[in-house]
Amino acid sequence: ALMITDECINCDVCEPECPNDAISMGESIYEIDPHKCTECVGHFDEPQCVQICPVACIPVNPQHVETRETLWQKFDRLTGSR
Ligand code: SF4
Repeated sequence: ALMITDECINCDVCEPECPNDAISMGESIYEIDPHKCTECVGHFDEPQCVQICPVACIPVNPQHVETRETLWQKFDRLTGSR
């Protein structure tokens, strides 16, 4: 899963881009729910929030480092597609 660091400027552009609805406004900055984030696996070739963030503040969450296979399994679980 990805995460949003405190460099976030609350510009709002990433929230509607997330195909998993994993991004929402937190207490002071935007947050990514690691249980919903597939790093866009299953939807797009690249994480859409990373592509659009103007300040590049969306790295991989060090507490939720996942393989592509694990991300695919999460996608399947979230969508019930396989
Ligand atoms: Fe924050 Fe980047 Fe999302 Fe804008 S695109 S709200 S700066 S994480």
